[in-house]
Amino acid sequence: MSLLASDFEKVRHRMVEEQLIPRSIHDPKTLDAMRKVPRHLFVEDALKSQAYGDSPLPIGRGQTISQPYIVALMTQALGLQGHEHILEIGTGSGYQAAILSQICEKVYTVERMDTLLVQARKVFDSLHYLNILTKLDDGTNGWPEYRPYDAIIVTAGGPKVPLPLLEQLADPGSLVIPVGDRAVQDLRLVTKKDGEITEKTIEFVRFVNLIGDHGWKND
Ligand code: SAH
Repeated sequence: MSLLASDFEKVRHRMVEEQLIPRSIHDPKTLDAMRKVPRHLFVEDALKSQAYGDSPLPIGRGQTISQPYIVALMTQALGLQGHEHILEIGTGSGYQAAILSQICEKVYTVERMDTLLVQARKVFDSLHYLNILTKLDDGTNGWPEYRPYDAIIVTAGGPKVPLPLLEQLADPGSLVIPVGDRAVQDLRLVTKKDGEITEKTIEFVRFVNLIGDHGWKND
C-alpha cells in the first residue's frame, strides 16, 4: 500500500504532538518547520513508512538521519530569529538543513561524502528550497568564504569543538555540536558574546563520527 502526501502530513503532525511538544520543544519556529518539511522524502522508499518514527534511520554509507526530537532540540537550542546565515557540517540526508532553511535566511551546508550530497541536492531542488548552498568538503575547516555565521550546527560527533568553526562564528553567535568519544557525546551549546566563549551541555547523544582535520582522523 502506498501512502499519500496527506497521510504523511497527518503522521507528521502527530510526530510533533507526541514526540516533540511533550519533550519541551516549544519554539514556534522550530515546531512550524517540523510540521512543514516532508521528512519521508529524505529517506529511501523502503523506509518512508518509518520516516516519522521516534528514531534515527540509515541513509547509506554507514550514516544516519537523526531522530526528529534531536533535530528539533538542536534547532531550538540555537534560538533562531529568522535573519540568520547558518553553517551546517554534515549534510547527510539534507533533512536538518531543510528544517533550518524554513527558519533562517541562508543555510550553508558541507558534506564529505559525494553520494549523500548529490542525493540531498536533488531533494532540495525538488522542494525548491533555494536558500540552501552545498559544498563537498571536510567541514571541520568550516566554509571560510561566507563567514561569519550567526549560527553553526554540527551533526556529527567529534573529540572537540573544531577551532576553525569557533573562528567563523559571529559575535554574538551560537554553535551546537556533539562532543565526546566515538560512541557517546554531550550535545554542547557554545555561545560567543563580546569576545567571550561559554559552553553548556544540553543532552547526552549518539551521533556518527565527525571525520576530518579537526575531528576523528579516520572512519
Ligand atoms: N544532518 C544530517 C545528519 C547526517 S549524519 C541529516 O539531517 O540527515 C552526519 C553526516 O556528517 C554524515 O553524512 C557524514 O558523512 C557527515 N560528516 C562527517 N564528518 C564530516 C566532515 N568533516 N565534514 C562534512 N561532513 C561530515
